[in-house]
Amino acid sequence: MQKKQFLRLDSPVQYIKGIGPKKASYFKKLNIENVKDLLFLVPRRYLDYSNVLKIKDLKINDEATVIGRIHLIEIKKAVRRGEIVNVLLRDETGSVVLRWFNRPDLKNKFKIGDWLMVSGKVTFFYSKQFINPIYEIIGDEESIPETISGTIIPIYPLTEGLSIWDIRRAMNIALELCLDEVVETIPEYILKKNELPAMKKALKDLHFPQTVNEAIKARRRLVYDEFFFFELALARRRLKVKSQEGVPLKKTGKLTDLFLNSLNFELTAGQKKVIDEITADLARPKPMNRLLQGDVGSGKTVIALYTLLVAVENDYQGAMMVPTEIRADQHYLNHIPVLEKIGVKSGLLTSSIKGSTREEVIKQILNGEAKIVFGTHALIEEGINFKNLGLAIIDEQHRFGVMQRAALVNKGINPHFLVLSATPIPRTLALTLYGDLDISTLTEKPAGRGEVITKLYTEKEKLKVYQFIHTELLKGRQAFVVCPIIEKSEKLELKSVKEVYEEIQSVFSDFTVGLIHGRLNTQERINVMSEFRNGKITILVATTVIEVGVDIPNATIMLILHPERFGLAQLHQLRGRIGRGAERSYCLLILNKFVSPETFERLMFFEKNNDGFALARKDMQLRGPGEILGKRQHGLPDIRIGDLEEDQELLFLARDDAFEIINKDPELRMTEHLPIRKYLKEFSAKEDLLRIG
Ligand code: ADP
Ligand code: MG
Repeated sequence: MQKKQFLRLDSPVQYIKGIGPKKASYFKKLNIENVKDLLFLVPRRYLDYSNVLKIKDLKINDEATVIGRIHLIEIKKAVRRGEIVNVLLRDETGSVVLRWFNRPDLKNKFKIGDWLMVSGKVTFFYSKQFINPIYEIIGDEESIPETISGTIIPIYPLTEGLSIWDIRRAMNIALELCLDEVVETIPEYILKKNELPAMKKALKDLHFPQTVNEAIKARRRLVYDEFFFFELALARRRLKVKSQEGVPLKKTGKLTDLFLNSLNFELTAGQKKVIDEITADLARPKPMNRLLQGDVGSGKTVIALYTLLVAVENDYQGAMMVPTEIRADQHYLNHIPVLEKIGVKSGLLTSSIKGSTREEVIKQILNGEAKIVFGTHALIEEGINFKNLGLAIIDEQHRFGVMQRAALVNKGINPHFLVLSATPIPRTLALTLYGDLDISTLTEKPAGRGEVITKLYTEKEKLKVYQFIHTELLKGRQAFVVCPIIEKSEKLELKSVKEVYEEIQSVFSDFTVGLIHGRLNTQERINVMSEFRNGKITILVATTVIEVGVDIPNATIMLILHPERFGLAQLHQLRGRIGRGAERSYCLLILNKFVSPETFERLMFFEKNNDGFALARKDMQLRGPGEILGKRQHGLPDIRIGDLEEDQELLFLARDDAFEIINKDPELRMTEHLPIRKYLKEFSAKEDLLRIG
């Protein structure tokens, strides 16, 4: 009774009766610090207790669920290979055998006396048994599950030391004492329209549902809220951006036509369309805010240069910020000559440019001599000032955070803004996730590109791979050999890039081998890259510094060592370095070690798919959208419960609602929107959200 007065939504979970410091520390592992966190813990799934049988009632060939305690655990060698874990499970009516093949991990998970809930098909082999059943440890020796009330049991993500029953008990108290404190943020008319339960009901149903359907609706409500506030933040950002004034930049053709004529190819229809979209944006007295997405090699850079030249035609400066030094170098190296030919002076600024060179560049940026500036984060440092920045471009936008984006834009007065992304996502999804940007998508690559073949090999096949590479090199082609960067802590597990370099040198002794990595300075890097470009170097051993922006059409081989170390997006970027000429290219991966089934699946997927859209989707499934979109730095509310694929219908719903509300009531002053306003204020106090433009 005493406790009652004290428990509030923001009370630490330790204040809940039955939770001491130890249990509280386990809750912390689930990211649960206070009562509110606890209430918003979403069950992984639900068990329909109405299906739980007593062991004596199990029938062979039935799909069934039972609850019992572990009476015996036995590990046996399997006949062929691996191990079998046998468990004897008992309830008050009898016992049943559970057996798992090749699950050595289970040995340490189960203890005699643990309460297990298992589901699966009942078979018979000397006695009734479950083979590889789904299981859930629901209690240990000490924590005896109470009589289960309600028919639907939520299964929570568990950590060691916490049973489902601990969570249930705490949840019960939390709901009883604190549910009243939960405020409703979503207006009733929206809940009604979308058939969503009120938040209080949702929280109750999430944890103590009467039917599975109630539980599903409850989860929908939580997901909706998450999407809604995400979209609302975007809608507000967009509104802010749309209300800004900017300088119209009209394409004159003075430089842009010269540039197009200097290319030895025609723009694709897709590129022309995007250029039309961009030039239309630039011509308005409002800053452009556009995302250009397209697979690696789809020809985004040409468009970026064109856009920069429109700014220069109007006597404004343009800047392009890229994530790595080598990419900045490459832009500078590849594009200066082209730009110089048409009379445009450009500059390069990275952190490895120092001393008098640096001072000179900074001066030229300030006095406007440098019309186009390529660079890394160095561009947004204090003390770098432009004469008149009319256009800012960010390449690989997911590598940069909102603050950096804002910092670049702030180097001018409401300049036009373009971001490039080589991690394309489906347009509908892009519209939703980048709701504050207009979107252009390049869906096809320029014609005449050779096919890229990807193949996975094992360490044993290395010689074969080398031989293959050798024959390709004899045809006059060039190759990249990529190995992951070594961090000191990773010890000797990976060969250092130098060792690889030596090995490649000795295997391919009749060819010149070059080496490039992050420790080289700008000049050294530029030297190596230009020797590779002009063919003096045939094989380039590299770390992932070459991941982006290297464009050498004669390089048709990409050998990736330790591919298990790379995510899909990164592998695809690496593969994007080849297939840039007319010849057929090969991306060869050598797997050194035993890899987990998940990793193997990922690499197999990579082997079979060469489409950036498909890979981005898969990546999103595997790693969550945050990683892919760079959301962590996004400054937006998190999406943790919702699944961008599975809950897409809700996402679109939430988007429409959020944008409509902001349209109708931009400042959220209407009575029914005040709770939203309040919520946003609280959030932005933490996250700085509303101040970011
Ligand atoms: P992205 O930046 O999208 O990865 P790039 O702009 O670097 O792609 O283009 C990759 C290569 O294709 C470059 O060598 C570029 O010159 C070339 N390219 C771009 N557009 C075309 C086109 N329309 N026809 C032929 N080649 C093109
Ligand atoms: Mg490019």
